[in-house]
Amino acid sequence: MIKAVLLDMGGVLLDTHGVSSLPGHRLDYRGRRAMLGLLRQRGSRKVTLDDLESELFGPWHRDYVGRYERMRDAAWEPHLERLRCKFGGEVDDRELLAAWFAPYAENLTEIEGAGKALQELRAAGYRLGLVSNVPLPGDFYLHQLERWGLAEPLEAIRFSYDAGSRKPSPRMLLEVLKELGVSPERAVMIGDRRGSDVAAGRAAATRTVWIRSEFSRGPTADATIDSIAQLPALLASWQEQKP
Ligand SMILES: [Mg+2]
Repeated sequence: MIKAVLLDMGGVLLDTHGVSSLPGHRLDYRGRRAMLGLLRQRGSRKVTLDDLESELFGPWHRDYVGRYERMRDAAWEPHLERLRCKFGGEVDDRELLAAWFAPYAENLTEIEGAGKALQELRAAGYRLGLVSNVPLPGDFYLHQLERWGLAEPLEAIRFSYDAGSRKPSPRMLLEVLKELGVSPERAVMIGDRRGSDVAAGRAAATRTVWIRSEFSRGPTADATIDSIAQLPALLASWQEQKP
């Protein structure tokens, strides 16, 4: 019997509209302009878009490419510190990252039917946990889940940036399951990336559901659906199969 549902965020609960919260996306430039404006407003000296690339985004990205080997997301703090040391300015890390993140955040919307599906799962008695790989502090994303009314049904939450671990490592999944008091064999991991979500579920020894997407490289899931809206019915059919 399944007792807990572990959910990925992007492509499952929130629609990113094909844009990732990483340097290089189409909203990145708007975010960089906002960050630059904030720096100048707070007294940074002669900082330019080129400086942001050479002192912050470029070095951060070189760390970021090693995230799979490290199984951990890249930290922004050393790069923000270097930027401030060089150009000055009374502004903290979170304000700068929030300025850059804002255009991306505005672009996020609820996946159609996600809130309804979460309510149905809670009503059916499942414990719900979120396990999400993100390149920025988790509360940035938590606010977006709250904005769309998606945070309340989630009882345990792990974001990779804060957790110090990322999928496909099973670590965040096992932490959430421990918090929920549910063993892996009574849990299912659902996500849109086979290489991280399905692989992490397998490594944690949960069952797995893949939401069909372009991210099809990776292990095969126990079931495939087209949207989270189909999950309550799928789990109900699994429970009926059990003696
Ligand atoms: Mg995803």
